[in-house]
Amino acid sequence: MPRTSDRRLRTRIGYGFDSHEFRPGIPLKIGGITLPHDKGLGGHSDGDVLLHALTDALLGGIAAPDIGVLFPPSDAKWKGADSGIFVREALKRVNEAGYKVANVDASLILASPKIGPHSSAIRERVADMLGIPCDCLGLKAKTPEGLNLDNAAIAHVVVLLESRRTSHSQNTARKVNSRSPRAET
Ligand code: MG
Repeated sequence: MPRTSDRRLRTRIGYGFDSHEFRPGIPLKIGGITLPHDKGLGGHSDGDVLLHALTDALLGGIAAPDIGVLFPPSDAKWKGADSGIFVREALKRVNEAGYKVANVDASLILASPKIGPHSSAIRERVADMLGIPCDCLGLKAKTPEGLNLDNAAIAHVVVLLESRRTSHSQNTARKVNSRSPRAET
């Protein structure tokens, strides 16, 4: 049986990566938004590469099983599924583990379409899913220069999780300290 920590961490980092291949004739979903494009992302569920990487980052942060274990691509139940389901389940597990999302930073790598015009909508949708303000969700889009990956979309996501219990006790401690007279030393 693997050893588990008896010490509660104040913060935990989660990291997720995913990639999907473009295929013609299917809608392109990124960050829960349908983008106008002549191709979509094939594979598991609706192929939302950003939400899959985010799900794995959330799960990784609490050392939970990854998206492929919880929602196996071999299970027909997940074919064409809205990837928001995966994010919500991962977030539920994060909450149950006693953590909340502090901030998220994501990079998308794809040749087209341009993400810039849709960046605000994607950030708003994903921040809303996580219950965090938009200014706690970074999103960068890069083109895969020199990688010969023009028919793929790649996402990297990092999340910072913060203990609910620790932030409460820290706030309480701050309030108590602000009320206590400072000892002169
Ligand atoms: Mg995936």
